[in-house]
Amino acid sequence: MKNAQCKKCLNKFHEKDIYTIQQFQYRKKPTYEWTIKFFKKLRIDEWDSFCEKCIMVYSKKSNDTWKKSKV
Ligand SMILES: [Zn+2]
Repeated sequence: MKNAQCKKCLNKFHEKDIYTIQQFQYRKKPTYEWTIKFFKKLRIDEWDSFCEKCIMVYSKKSNDTWKKSKV
């Protein structure tokens, strides 16, 4: 049963396929602390569920923003 829902695209998917921003704690850069602050501005917290496609979009977006902030 598809009983999980992506907060961004609102698609339904299997619970085992849930992604959260918690997975970004394994990135070296930006730091997880920075990542948490970044997503807080987007009103996203560590317990929000996303599908794989949307978490990839956020991954890129946060990375790009971080790079710009370093220039
Ligand atoms: Zn999605």
